[in-house]
Amino acid sequence: MCGIVGYIGQNGIKKVLLEGLKELEYRGYDSAGIAVLQNDSFSVYKAVGKLVNLEKKTEEFAPDGFGIGIGHTRWATHGKPTELNAHPHLGESSYVVHNGIIENYQEIKRELLAKGVKFLSQTDTEVIVHLFEQNLKSADSAFNAFKMTLSRLEGAYAILLVSKLEEDTIFFAKQGSPLIIGVNEQGEKYFASSDAPLIGHAKEVIYLNDGEFGYLSPQKIALFDSCHEVVAPQFSTLPESKLSAQKEGHRFFMGAF
Ligand code: GLU
Repeated sequence: MCGIVGYIGQNGIKKVLLEGLKELEYRGYDSAGIAVLQNDSFSVYKAVGKLVNLEKKTEEFAPDGFGIGIGHTRWATHGKPTELNAHPHLGESSYVVHNGIIENYQEIKRELLAKGVKFLSQTDTEVIVHLFEQNLKSADSAFNAFKMTLSRLEGAYAILLVSKLEEDTIFFAKQGSPLIIGVNEQGEKYFASSDAPLIGHAKEVIYLNDGEFGYLSPQKIALFDSCHEVVAPQFSTLPESKLSAQKEGHRFFMGAF
């Protein structure tokens, strides 16, 4: 299990994602990647090895203005540490990042293969995005397709999924792997798998509980529990700097994650 970041906003999306991943580097990883959705088009970069390799690949990438993005550092559990197996993983018009293990991925993969779905990677993660896109065929909304997808997954996961169908929205779920939402007064929204990438960006955070899922857009935080009941977000204030976090004995320095 490694790192996840996400961002919705207009202030330097590439920098936010790459710097966020850097803050998670200490956890160890074998590859990394980002996907940015802007003006109906995805820009996706992946690299094996250190983050500096990903930084090099994204040198020419200069997104400007509003966008949504997801990023991942991978610690391979299913499939070798190759670029093809690095996250984000693509369906037809959606991308997913995932920390954890989908225990029943083989069963889901068999069903999808029988329907003619093509897989590019050896990961357990890739089933999530293909299952989501299959579910889109019968669901009346992207969020309902996401919910149907979650109901099939067994194992541990922190998931972020973005789709061209909802250009300003990140779908998320947490079960057994850490995931935190961050917000600030400028209306920017963040995800991270530990507090570290959020410090200095987000003012308040929501530590998601197991079984919680929902979606985030510039206007909305929709949060549900494992019984699909609406949850009122519980905000905690985040220290403004790493120094103050350290002084307060904040939990990311205590290794709670
Ligand atoms: N099980 C997934 C994979 O092997 C995610 C690993 C992780 O948490 O980084 O790709």
